[in-house]
Amino acid sequence: MGRKKVLAGNWKMNTSPEEGMALLQALKANLHPTDSLVVYVAPPHVQLQQTVKLLREKSNFYVAAQDARAEASGAFTGDVSISMLAAMAVDAVILGHSERRLHHQETDAVVNAKMHAAFAAGLIAIVCVGENLEVRQAGNHLGHVWEQLNASIQGLDSKHFNDIIIAYEPVWAIGTGEVASPEQAQAMHQHLRNQLASVYGSDAEEIPLLYGGSCKPSNANALFAQDDVDGGLIGGAALKVSDFHPLFESLKKV
Ligand code: PEP
Repeated sequence: MGRKKVLAGNWKMNTSPEEGMALLQALKANLHPTDSLVVYVAPPHVQLQQTVKLLREKSNFYVAAQDARAEASGAFTGDVSISMLAAMAVDAVILGHSERRLHHQETDAVVNAKMHAAFAAGLIAIVCVGENLEVRQAGNHLGHVWEQLNASIQGLDSKHFNDIIIAYEPVWAIGTGEVASPEQAQAMHQHLRNQLASVYGSDAEEIPLLYGGSCKPSNANALFAQDDVDGGLIGGAALKVSDFHPLFESLKKV
């Protein structure tokens, strides 16, 4: 079996409980993930419980939180800890999304602490990286994104290669309608995969690398067809099954 394919839907701060429930029912009825093509759903925290409950008996569907705090407990009003997610039977947590880095000043060091906390709690870490437009225009994106990733996953042990998924999400493409070309995505993914292998050994080549940023049915085939693109982290197009299902089918084809 080659590398695992992954389609992950990040609902962000969208969907009422009823809308979330309807979306889950539709996903469950229409998508049939397999061992080699798995699906993650990341609803808002307040809908994690209903999501876990609804997807429990459907295999190869996994539930992710959009963020959580590394400390297990304490005086962090408004926050939720990774160990609390584990206690709710959540499978994974998205870490270092560019919106967290922007609105909550999350640094690579914070993301790194969260990654280790996720592993300690038995969760999959979906670690996001990506350059902003300025870096891309200056032509420094490859080096910049690797630096960000390297710092975010410091201390990654080979025993956790199956517990990590990496998402390359150019900031200029997230929610903007502006999408990386298949060649741009492939160049970055190939670079990250090579760097991972050179630092962590060839087994690290098995870590799934997802693309994220305005991925939709009209551009997914070409993106997913790239050798080093193993799937997508999807925002806007994860909110409607009529968009998300074709993405699943695109990924199934490659
Ligand atoms: C995201 O939120 O991770 C994302 C990729 O959003 P969008 O697909 O809407 O660009």
